[in-house]
Amino acid sequence: MRRKFVAGNWKMNGTRAQLAEVRAIAEAAAKLPQIDAALCVPFTLIASAADAAGAMPIGAQDVHEAEKGAHTGCVSAAMLVEAGAKLAIVGHSERRADQNETGHAIWAKAAAAHKQGLGVILCVGETESERDACRAERVVQAQIEESLPEDADGSWLTLAYEPRWAIGTGRTPTPEEIEAIHAAIRRKLTDLIGDRADGVRILYGGSLNGANAAAILAVENVDGGLIGGASLTAEKFVPILEAAAASSR
Ligand code: PEP
Repeated sequence: MRRKFVAGNWKMNGTRAQLAEVRAIAEAAAKLPQIDAALCVPFTLIASAADAAGAMPIGAQDVHEAEKGAHTGCVSAAMLVEAGAKLAIVGHSERRADQNETGHAIWAKAAAAHKQGLGVILCVGETESERDACRAERVVQAQIEESLPEDADGSWLTLAYEPRWAIGTGRTPTPEEIEAIHAAIRRKLTDLIGDRADGVRILYGGSLNGANAAAILAVENVDGGLIGGASLTAEKFVPILEAAAASSR
């Protein structure tokens, strides 16, 4: 039985003025011991958010694959650990698109984060034209093949299926579409890592909110959510945490 996991991705939002939201979200999460919750914040907020969040893990939204060196503007896994991060997102579609991140780079980032003891949320997802061309499953399975570290298991790795066309748009796939692609992801994981696939959580991400969370989190093989816009305030995020807790009963 995989515990539900709900993670927020604050993207390029959040300064110390928002620490009260971190505190409120962490307090609500502490009252829902049947699920795991986390917030992935900008690099600049990791240390203060980790102080504010108590037991709730704080994560980063990216990590560099190298341990150190001439990589201006980048942050290593060891630096994230020192700042108080417990996990990192890798392969978010906004980074794949904006920073041209390749599958191999994402593999290397995941491996580097794991080496330093960070949990990893590895994101995959198709574009709208790929879905329209009935290529969503193949695209997502290929992304997993390129970027999944060989030693992946559920103790440190989580997958997030995030169709790019659903991110920040208010549009979501149907529960049937989500079920089909999460099943395809589970099959690919099993091909690649055998029985260890059973322990890997697969999150859904893309316009998840308090209104649609119960229906989406009830779908088979949906082990939680990765939430952007609706994770920025306790008012919007806590109902999603509560829906995950309710679906765990
Ligand atoms: C995301 O960016 O990971 C995401 C799921 O965003 P949103 O919830 O805003 O669609």
